[in-house]
Amino acid sequence: MLECRDLSVSYGHHRALVSVAVRTAPGEIVVILGANGAGKSTLLQAIAGLVPSHDAGQILLDGKSVKGQPPHLIVEAGLALVPEGRRLFGDLTVLENLVLGAYAGRARQSEKENLEKVFTLFPRLAERRRQVARTMSGGEQQMVAIGRAMMSAPSILMLDEPSLGLSPILCSELFKALAEVRKTGVGILLVEQNARQGLAIADRGYLLENGRIVGEGTAASLAQDPAVQKAYLGGAAGDVGARPARVPAQSPPQAISRAAVPPPIRPSATSAQDVGSLIPGSINELVQRAAAIQSDHVKAMRTGRVATRPAVAATARARDDSLQEAIARVEAAAADARKSRQSGDSGERKQVKGD
Ligand code: ATP
Repeated sequence: MLECRDLSVSYGHHRALVSVAVRTAPGEIVVILGANGAGKSTLLQAIAGLVPSHDAGQILLDGKSVKGQPPHLIVEAGLALVPEGRRLFGDLTVLENLVLGAYAGRARQSEKENLEKVFTLFPRLAERRRQVARTMSGGEQQMVAIGRAMMSAPSILMLDEPSLGLSPILCSELFKALAEVRKTGVGILLVEQNARQGLAIADRGYLLENGRIVGEGTAASLAQDPAVQKAYLGGAAGDVGARPARVPAQSPPQAISRAAVPPPIRPSATSAQDVGSLIPGSINELVQRAAAIQSDHVKAMRTGRVATRPAVAATARARDDSLQEAIARVEAAAADARKSRQSGDSGERKQVKGD
């Protein structure tokens, strides 16, 4: 059981949380609803020990205080946070990310069992265990983030806006997965921008406004509350699927206007050949180098080989030198092309004048 009492957080003079009290029982899903800037993320971060809270408050996990403890000890005590934006190790595989979640002492003995549980919960992760995390879709990455948190064998799982940016289908998969997690007896404290889906899955909820809890109740009673409907559900009850509390910013697809495309440069035959052969080669080279830098980094992590500072500096210098050289070659060829185009233009004008 997680219990927070009189929890306050300030960022300088700004009070982001004022005497907040929330609790989450084992096997219960509790949703925190609030507008942008209400203090939802701050609440989860304060519980996870990522931001300090005022002295007066209490954070109890199964009756023991975890307040003021460093985040890794709070994870050891049984609290896991899935942060907003997932924060995966993008260059590592799905399996490697999951295994990293079992770093806590409480979870090491049961690493294999927990991995099996995660794979049962998210069969997709079992299929894709060797895939590099950053190449997974948004929804799959969210599953990895939840799976990684579950690998620490938490008694309370906190999730900060897990559905942000997911398609409706992936959202409903995600919420089904959370319902499955609840069945295992884990308590879930959920911050969710999709109030309708959050309330549909939750047992209870709290309303957070300007850092203060201004309402609480069962999810069913909150969903029927006219004020909640107005503020978070976009109107009347039963209007399922209406406006979420926050719509992720999406820029509309940009139409490419023909007029916006710059006219092609027509350099002399020699220059065109030089630039044409040089640019794609250089770009490939840059991409390969970037990939090499990444894989060096990952290899070092996998083999446990730690590169020494001078060696890294020497490699970086060599890469930098050849990069500078490639850029200089491209610039010289482009200048050459520009010069020959200009001389061609002036020739034409001279011809007109001469006529
Ligand atoms: P959103 O839904 O937009 O993520 P939120 O309810 O999670 O918002 P918080 O991120 O907790 O809100 O922020 C609560 C208040 O605290 C906001 O006014 C925010 O600007 C402020 N705040 C958050 N983090 C910091 C920080 N590191 N330094 C200063 N102010 C902060």
